Amino acid sequence: MTKKKPFHLAKCLAVLTGALLLNSGLAAERKTENLILITLDGLRHQELFGGLDLEVLKATTKDGKPGGTKTHNRFWADTPIARREKLMPFFWREWMQQHGSVAGNPQKGSSVRLANRLLFSYPGYSEILTGQARDDLITSNDKVLNPNPTVLEFLRRKLGLPQQQVAAFASWDVIGVAVQHKAGAVFTNTGYEAYTHADPVIRSISRLQFEMLTPWDTVRHDEITFRLAMAHLKTHRPRVLYLSLGETDDWAHDKRYDRVLAAIARFDIFFKELWNWLQNEAQYRNKTTLMITTDHGRGDISLNWHSHNAQIKDAKNTWLAVISPDSPLRGEWTDGEPVVMDQIAATLCHFLGLDYSEQNPKAGKPIARIFGK
Ligand SMILES: [Zn+2]
Repeated sequence: MTKKKPFHLAKCLAVLTGALLLNSGLAAERKTENLILITLDGLRHQELFGGLDLEVLKATTKDGKPGGTKTHNRFWADTPIARREKLMPFFWREWMQQHGSVAGNPQKGSSVRLANRLLFSYPGYSEILTGQARDDLITSNDKVLNPNPTVLEFLRRKLGLPQQQVAAFASWDVIGVAVQHKAGAVFTNTGYEAYTHADPVIRSISRLQFEMLTPWDTVRHDEITFRLAMAHLKTHRPRVLYLSLGETDDWAHDKRYDRVLAAIARFDIFFKELWNWLQNEAQYRNKTTLMITTDHGRGDISLNWHSHNAQIKDAKNTWLAVISPDSPLRGEWTDGEPVVMDQIAATLCHFLGLDYSEQNPKAGKPIARIFGK
């Protein structure tokens, strides 16, 4: 330490006061008080931006002639824009026209990419949740606690929230460990897991998950996950909610394209219900930022659309939607720097004025374009 110099101290205080005023000015402008992260497992950019892919439907229809099938009748239209609006009318007509924006359409020169090289689920979720991907600490989908602390743990600590106010609901059981480095750091209800609630309707939904099974041992129906997440939202009013839906990926692995499209259309109905509820609640209305993305892409042709791994190039390409009172962007992003999935954790924190590099200096930085910069 050097000798005390009162003059310099006064100068320092003046600078400090200026900085505080600037910060409080920014804080006053910031509207976000709640965060909702949603992931749709392995939902391809092809379906999000272009709706039904006719080549894939042909390849998965018995005689190769999809015309007249239920799926073709429901989702086919002549242009990609008309097709995607048939698949996700609420997402495209309400959210993207009035409230948010979406990056990752290659036809518009926009790119969202994974930093990890493995291109399957746990590495993808960990990249989203920790902001760190390049060290390849996770090399399997084994159900083990995240080797790095996550953004959910950081948010709970920084905001000083009780456990139930930072909650993760997931269809796939591995998400229960992917969201936390320390067991019990955040509230989780994932895979086939009962949910305790005073309302008998919610209790019966919780019970149904064990009776109406999916074809997969570790993934329950998205409908159950969504219903339980909504019950938690209404009861415990979390500031941070992570909703992780999974059926799109599992139906794709089973080559059931009809079910993949039906699952995507169901997400859209969930989105509408969630949004209408949020917009009717003072705690959430115009104070909630939603980020929606996926953990990986998949193959881009009818031979490999169902699969994803390090050898399938297009599995690296994902997409990211942002609906926020603090983002001026609307509709589809065009051109610009590629977005990297390891930036999502820091971006979520930035919406609340928090600096995620405090927890993980190796994580990707906030996506400046979202904030109009
Ligand atoms: Zn998969």
